[in-house]
Amino acid sequence: MINQILEKIKEYNRIIIHRHIRPDGDCIGSQHALKKAIMLNFPEKEVYAVGDVIPDYLTNYGVLDEVTPDMYKGSLVIVVDTASKKRICGENYTLGDYIIKIDHHDDSEDYADINYVDEKIPACGAIITSLLRKWNLKINEEIATYLYLAITTDTGRFRFRGVNEEVMTNAGYLISLGVKIDKLYTNLYTKEKESFKLQGYVYQNFKTTQSGVAYIYFSQDLINEYGVTKDDAANLVSTLDSIKGSLIWVAFIEQEDRFEIRVRLRSRFVSINGVASKYRGGGHLQAAGATIYSLDEMNAILEELDVLHQEFKENNKELF
Ligand code: AMP
Repeated sequence: MINQILEKIKEYNRIIIHRHIRPDGDCIGSQHALKKAIMLNFPEKEVYAVGDVIPDYLTNYGVLDEVTPDMYKGSLVIVVDTASKKRICGENYTLGDYIIKIDHHDDSEDYADINYVDEKIPACGAIITSLLRKWNLKINEEIATYLYLAITTDTGRFRFRGVNEEVMTNAGYLISLGVKIDKLYTNLYTKEKESFKLQGYVYQNFKTTQSGVAYIYFSQDLINEYGVTKDDAANLVSTLDSIKGSLIWVAFIEQEDRFEIRVRLRSRFVSINGVASKYRGGGHLQAAGATIYSLDEMNAILEELDVLHQEFKENNKELF
Protein backbone atom coordinates (compact mmCIF):
# COMPACT_ATOMS: atom_id res chain seq x y z
CA MET A 1 0.00 0.00 0.00
CA ILE A 2 2.88 2.35 0.81
CA ASN A 3 4.28 1.98 -2.71
CA GLN A 4 0.85 2.42 -4.22
CA ILE A 5 0.53 5.79 -2.45
CA LEU A 6 3.88 6.94 -3.83
CA GLU A 7 2.89 5.76 -7.32
CA LYS A 8 -0.28 7.86 -7.14
CA ILE A 9 1.70 10.89 -5.98
CA LYS A 10 4.01 10.41 -8.97
CA GLU A 11 1.09 9.90 -11.35
CA TYR A 12 -0.82 13.12 -10.64
CA ASN A 13 0.35 16.62 -11.54
CA ARG A 14 -2.00 18.39 -9.18
CA ILE A 15 -2.37 17.27 -5.57
CA ILE A 16 -4.76 18.84 -3.06
CA ILE A 17 -4.27 18.05 0.62
CA HIS A 18 -7.17 18.24 3.07
CA ARG A 19 -7.28 17.82 6.87
CA HIS A 20 -9.85 17.80 9.63
CA ILE A 21 -12.08 20.59 10.94
CA ARG A 22 -10.94 22.33 14.15
CA PRO A 23 -7.31 21.87 13.16
CA ASP A 24 -4.61 20.93 15.65
CA GLY A 25 -0.83 20.76 15.40
CA ASP A 26 -0.86 17.23 14.05
CA CYS A 27 -3.14 17.85 11.11
CA ILE A 28 -1.60 21.23 10.21
CA GLY A 29 1.94 19.83 10.55
CA SER A 30 1.12 16.68 8.58
CA GLN A 31 -0.64 18.61 5.84
CA HIS A 32 2.12 21.15 5.30
CA ALA A 33 4.95 18.64 5.69
CA LEU A 34 3.42 16.48 2.99
CA LYS A 35 2.82 19.48 0.74
CA LYS A 36 6.36 20.79 1.10
CA ALA A 37 7.88 17.33 0.73
CA ILE A 38 6.04 16.68 -2.53
CA MET A 39 7.06 20.15 -3.79
CA LEU A 40 10.70 19.58 -2.83
CA ASN A 41 10.97 16.14 -4.39
CA PHE A 42 8.70 16.70 -7.41
CA PRO A 43 9.10 20.41 -8.21
CA GLU A 44 7.04 20.14 -11.40
CA LYS A 45 3.86 19.33 -9.45
CA GLU A 46 1.22 21.75 -8.17
CA VAL A 47 0.44 21.04 -4.51
CA TYR A 48 -2.17 22.79 -2.39
CA ALA A 49 -3.05 22.67 1.31
CA VAL A 50 -6.66 23.63 1.97
CA GLY A 51 -8.83 24.30 5.00
CA ASP A 52 -10.48 27.02 7.03
CA VAL A 53 -9.52 29.11 10.05
CA ILE A 54 -6.33 28.22 11.88
CA PRO A 55 -6.15 28.71 15.67
CA ASP A 56 -3.89 31.53 16.91
CA TYR A 57 -1.20 29.25 18.34
CA LEU A 58 -0.71 27.70 14.88
CA THR A 59 -0.83 30.82 12.71
CA ASN A 60 2.93 30.65 12.13
CA TYR A 61 2.52 27.20 10.61
CA GLY A 62 -0.49 27.22 8.41
CA VAL A 63 -0.63 29.32 5.25
CA LEU A 64 -3.54 27.92 3.28
CA ASP A 65 -4.11 27.85 -0.47
CA GLU A 66 -7.10 28.96 -2.52
CA VAL A 67 -8.47 26.15 -4.66
CA THR A 68 -11.56 26.46 -6.88
CA PRO A 69 -13.91 23.49 -7.41
CA ASP A 70 -12.86 23.03 -11.06
CA MET A 71 -9.21 22.54 -9.98
CA TYR A 72 -10.17 19.20 -8.43
CA LYS A 73 -10.86 17.71 -11.86
CA GLY A 74 -7.98 15.37 -12.70
CA SER A 75 -6.40 15.87 -9.27
CA LEU A 76 -5.22 13.58 -6.53
CA VAL A 77 -6.72 14.38 -3.12
CA ILE A 78 -4.92 13.33 0.06
CA VAL A 79 -6.75 13.66 3.38
CA VAL A 80 -4.54 13.58 6.47
CA ASP A 81 -5.38 12.87 10.12
CA THR A 82 -9.14 12.63 9.57
CA ALA A 83 -11.12 9.61 10.79
CA SER A 84 -14.48 10.17 9.16
CA LYS A 85 -16.13 11.99 6.27
CA LYS A 86 -18.01 14.31 8.63
CA ARG A 87 -14.68 15.55 10.05
CA ILE A 88 -13.09 16.43 6.69
CA CYS A 89 -12.59 20.17 6.28
CA GLY A 90 -13.83 21.20 2.82
CA GLU A 91 -16.50 19.19 1.07
CA ASN A 92 -14.94 19.56 -2.41
CA TYR A 93 -12.53 16.72 -1.67
CA THR A 94 -15.06 14.37 -3.36
CA LEU A 95 -14.43 16.18 -6.67
CA GLY A 96 -10.92 14.77 -6.92
CA ASP A 97 -10.13 11.92 -9.34
CA TYR A 98 -8.61 9.71 -6.71
CA ILE A 99 -8.60 10.00 -2.90
CA ILE A 100 -5.99 8.77 -0.42
CA LYS A 101 -6.50 8.86 3.31
CA ILE A 102 -3.56 8.80 5.75
CA ASP A 103 -4.66 8.58 9.39
CA HIS A 104 -4.06 7.19 12.87
CA HIS A 105 -7.47 7.33 14.59
CA ASP A 106 -9.01 4.35 16.36
CA ASP A 107 -12.46 4.93 14.92
CA SER A 108 -11.40 5.39 11.31
CA GLU A 109 -13.92 4.93 8.53
CA ASP A 110 -12.98 4.00 4.95
CA TYR A 111 -13.92 6.90 2.70
CA ALA A 112 -11.05 6.96 0.20
CA ASP A 113 -9.70 4.83 -2.65
CA ILE A 114 -6.67 4.03 -0.52
CA ASN A 115 -7.21 4.08 3.26
CA TYR A 116 -3.84 3.97 4.98
CA VAL A 117 -4.49 3.89 8.73
CA ASP A 118 -2.22 2.87 11.57
CA GLU A 119 -4.00 3.47 14.85
CA LYS A 120 -1.02 2.32 16.90
CA ILE A 121 0.99 5.39 15.86
CA PRO A 122 0.35 8.34 18.20
CA ALA A 123 0.50 11.12 15.58
CA CYS A 124 -0.33 11.31 11.88
CA GLY A 125 2.92 13.27 11.50
CA ALA A 126 4.82 10.21 12.72
CA ILE A 127 3.22 8.15 9.94
CA ILE A 128 4.13 10.81 7.35
CA THR A 129 7.72 10.90 8.67
CA SER A 130 8.01 7.11 8.29
CA LEU A 131 6.48 7.23 4.82
CA LEU A 132 8.82 9.97 3.58
CA ARG A 133 11.81 8.03 4.93
CA LYS A 134 10.64 4.72 3.46
CA TRP A 135 10.09 6.44 0.11
CA ASN A 136 13.63 7.83 0.31
CA LEU A 137 12.38 11.37 -0.26
CA LYS A 138 14.41 14.43 0.73
CA ILE A 139 13.32 16.20 3.92
CA ASN A 140 14.62 19.71 4.67
CA GLU A 141 14.54 21.77 7.87
CA GLU A 142 11.15 23.32 7.09
CA ILE A 143 9.52 19.93 6.46
CA ALA A 144 11.22 18.49 9.55
CA THR A 145 9.80 21.34 11.62
CA TYR A 146 6.25 20.67 10.40
CA LEU A 147 6.68 16.97 11.19
CA TYR A 148 8.09 17.68 14.64
CA LEU A 149 5.23 20.09 15.31
CA ALA A 150 2.76 17.32 14.40
CA ILE A 151 4.43 14.66 16.53
CA THR A 152 5.14 16.77 19.60
CA THR A 153 1.61 18.19 19.82
CA ASP A 154 -0.26 14.90 19.37
CA THR A 155 1.95 13.00 21.80
CA GLY A 156 1.78 15.71 24.50
CA ARG A 157 5.52 16.23 24.06
CA PHE A 158 6.24 12.49 23.81
CA ARG A 159 4.26 11.47 26.90
CA PHE A 160 1.25 9.61 25.53
CA ARG A 161 0.50 6.00 24.71
CA GLY A 162 1.99 4.79 21.46
CA VAL A 163 5.27 6.68 21.72
CA ASN A 164 7.72 3.96 20.76
CA GLU A 165 11.25 3.49 19.53
CA GLU A 166 10.35 4.31 15.91
CA VAL A 167 8.64 7.57 16.91
CA MET A 168 11.61 8.63 19.04
CA THR A 169 14.14 7.60 16.39
CA ASN A 170 12.26 9.56 13.76
CA ALA A 171 12.01 12.57 16.09
CA GLY A 172 15.77 12.39 16.60
CA TYR A 173 16.26 12.26 12.85
CA LEU A 174 14.08 15.37 12.42
CA ILE A 175 16.17 17.20 15.03
CA SER A 176 19.29 16.24 13.09
CA LEU A 177 17.77 18.09 10.11
CA GLY A 178 17.71 21.35 12.07
CA VAL A 179 14.41 21.61 13.98
CA LYS A 180 14.71 24.50 16.46
CA ILE A 181 12.88 23.03 19.43
CA ASP A 182 13.13 26.12 21.64
CA LYS A 183 11.60 28.34 18.95
CA LEU A 184 8.89 25.81 18.17
CA TYR A 185 7.96 25.37 21.82
CA THR A 186 7.94 29.12 22.44
CA ASN A 187 5.37 29.52 19.67
CA LEU A 188 3.32 26.56 20.80
CA TYR A 189 3.38 26.63 24.55
CA THR A 190 3.26 30.24 25.61
CA LYS A 191 -0.17 31.77 26.09
CA GLU A 192 -1.79 35.11 26.82
CA LYS A 193 -1.98 36.15 30.45
CA GLU A 194 -5.81 36.05 30.30
CA SER A 195 -5.58 32.31 29.68
CA PHE A 196 -3.42 31.89 32.78
CA LYS A 197 -6.02 33.72 34.84
CA LEU A 198 -8.70 31.40 33.51
CA GLN A 199 -6.39 28.48 34.30
CA GLY A 200 -6.37 29.72 37.89
CA TYR A 201 -10.17 29.64 37.79
CA VAL A 202 -10.03 26.03 36.57
CA TYR A 203 -7.77 25.01 39.46
CA GLN A 204 -10.16 26.66 41.91
CA ASN A 205 -13.42 25.51 40.42
CA PHE A 206 -13.09 22.11 38.75
CA LYS A 207 -15.43 19.44 40.06
CA THR A 208 -15.17 15.69 40.34
CA THR A 209 -17.77 12.95 40.11
CA GLN A 210 -18.08 10.36 42.85
CA SER A 211 -15.38 8.12 41.39
CA GLY A 212 -13.12 11.06 40.55
CA VAL A 213 -13.80 12.09 36.93
CA ALA A 214 -12.57 15.70 36.89
CA TYR A 215 -14.47 18.26 34.83
CA ILE A 216 -14.88 21.95 34.18
CA TYR A 217 -17.67 23.87 32.46
CA PHE A 218 -16.80 26.97 30.45
CA SER A 219 -19.92 29.07 29.88
CA GLN A 220 -19.88 31.86 27.29
CA ASP A 221 -20.22 34.34 30.16
CA LEU A 222 -17.10 32.96 31.81
CA ILE A 223 -15.18 33.00 28.52
CA ASN A 224 -16.22 36.62 27.94
CA GLU A 225 -15.45 37.64 31.52
CA TYR A 226 -11.86 36.42 31.17
CA GLY A 227 -11.46 37.88 27.67
CA VAL A 228 -10.25 34.65 26.05
CA THR A 229 -11.41 32.80 22.95
CA LYS A 230 -13.37 29.58 23.22
CA ASP A 231 -10.31 27.76 21.80
CA ASP A 232 -8.17 29.20 24.61
CA ALA A 233 -10.71 27.87 27.10
CA ALA A 234 -10.88 24.50 25.33
CA ASN A 235 -7.10 24.17 25.50
CA LEU A 236 -7.28 24.31 29.28
CA VAL A 237 -8.58 20.74 29.37
CA SER A 238 -4.97 19.67 29.97
CA THR A 239 -4.95 21.67 33.23
CA LEU A 240 -6.83 18.73 34.75
CA ASP A 241 -4.47 16.04 33.50
CA SER A 242 -2.48 15.21 36.63
CA ILE A 243 -4.95 14.93 39.50
CA LYS A 244 -4.23 11.89 41.63
CA GLY A 245 -7.11 9.44 41.40
CA SER A 246 -8.65 11.12 38.31
CA LEU A 247 -7.97 8.98 35.28
CA ILE A 248 -10.58 10.79 33.21
CA TRP A 249 -10.92 14.54 32.81
CA VAL A 250 -13.28 16.56 30.67
CA ALA A 251 -13.86 20.15 29.54
CA PHE A 252 -17.28 21.37 28.42
CA ILE A 253 -17.13 24.49 26.27
CA GLU A 254 -20.31 26.41 25.46
CA GLN A 255 -20.29 27.60 21.85
CA GLU A 256 -21.60 30.97 20.64
CA ASP A 257 -25.22 29.93 20.36
CA ARG A 258 -25.06 28.52 23.94
CA PHE A 259 -27.14 25.47 23.03
CA GLU A 260 -24.17 23.66 21.57
CA ILE A 261 -21.52 22.41 23.97
CA ARG A 262 -18.19 21.06 22.77
CA VAL A 263 -16.86 18.24 24.92
CA ARG A 264 -13.16 17.38 25.15
CA LEU A 265 -12.47 14.08 26.90
CA ARG A 266 -9.06 12.89 28.02
CA SER A 267 -7.84 9.90 30.04
CA ARG A 268 -4.99 7.78 31.24
CA PHE A 269 -5.45 4.02 30.58
CA VAL A 270 -9.27 4.10 30.28
CA SER A 271 -10.84 4.04 26.79
CA ILE A 272 -13.26 6.93 26.53
CA ASN A 273 -13.95 7.19 22.78
CA GLY A 274 -16.87 4.75 23.10
CA VAL A 275 -18.70 7.21 25.32
CA ALA A 276 -17.76 10.08 22.97
CA SER A 277 -19.23 8.24 20.00
CA LYS A 278 -22.61 8.00 21.77
CA TYR A 279 -22.68 11.81 21.87
CA ARG A 280 -21.99 12.66 18.22
CA GLY A 281 -18.26 12.29 18.62
CA GLY A 282 -15.33 9.94 18.53
CA GLY A 283 -11.55 10.05 18.49
CA HIS A 284 -8.74 8.11 20.11
CA LEU A 285 -8.95 5.71 23.03
CA GLN A 286 -7.61 8.38 25.39
CA ALA A 287 -8.35 11.67 23.61
CA ALA A 288 -11.79 12.13 22.16
CA GLY A 289 -14.37 14.80 21.47
CA ALA A 290 -18.15 15.08 21.29
CA THR A 291 -20.96 17.61 20.91
CA ILE A 292 -23.92 17.87 23.24
CA TYR A 293 -26.94 20.14 23.35
CA SER A 294 -28.10 20.37 26.96
CA LEU A 295 -27.04 20.16 30.59
CA ASP A 296 -29.04 16.93 30.81
CA GLU A 297 -26.70 15.46 28.23
CA MET A 298 -23.75 16.77 30.20
CA ASN A 299 -24.98 14.97 33.30
CA ALA A 300 -25.63 11.81 31.29
CA ILE A 301 -22.12 11.80 29.83
CA LEU A 302 -20.63 12.39 33.27
CA GLU A 303 -22.65 9.51 34.72
CA GLU A 304 -21.44 7.16 32.00
CA LEU A 305 -17.85 8.23 32.51
CA ASP A 306 -18.21 7.86 36.26
CA VAL A 307 -19.32 4.23 35.93
CA LEU A 308 -16.53 3.49 33.46
CA HIS A 309 -13.99 5.14 35.75
CA GLN A 310 -15.22 3.31 38.85
CA GLU A 311 -15.12 -0.08 37.07
CA PHE A 312 -11.68 0.55 35.67
CA LYS A 313 -10.28 1.52 39.06
CA GLU A 314 -11.78 -1.54 40.74
CA ASN A 315 -10.34 -3.87 38.11
CA ASN A 316 -6.92 -2.27 37.82
CA LYS A 317 -5.78 -1.56 41.37
CA GLU A 318 -2.19 -2.44 40.46
CA LEU A 319 -1.95 0.73 38.35
CA PHE A 320 -2.24 3.03 41.38
P1 AMP B 1 -10.11 17.34 20.56
O1 AMP B 1 -10.66 17.27 21.92
O2 AMP B 1 -10.91 18.24 19.65
O3 AMP B 1 -8.65 17.62 20.54
O4 AMP B 1 -10.26 15.90 19.90
C1 AMP B 1 -9.57 14.78 20.35
C2 AMP B 1 -9.66 13.70 19.30
O5 AMP B 1 -11.02 13.34 19.10
C3 AMP B 1 -9.14 14.17 17.95
O6 AMP B 1 -8.42 13.12 17.40
C4 AMP B 1 -10.37 14.46 17.14
O7 AMP B 1 -10.16 14.16 15.80
C5 AMP B 1 -11.42 13.55 17.77
N1 AMP B 1 -12.72 14.23 17.81
C6 AMP B 1 -12.99 15.40 18.42
N2 AMP B 1 -14.29 15.74 18.26
C7 AMP B 1 -14.85 14.77 17.52
C8 AMP B 1 -16.15 14.56 16.99
N3 AMP B 1 -17.15 15.40 17.21
N4 AMP B 1 -16.35 13.43 16.25
C9 AMP B 1 -15.34 12.56 16.03
N5 AMP B 1 -14.08 12.70 16.50
C10 AMP B 1 -13.84 13.80 17.23
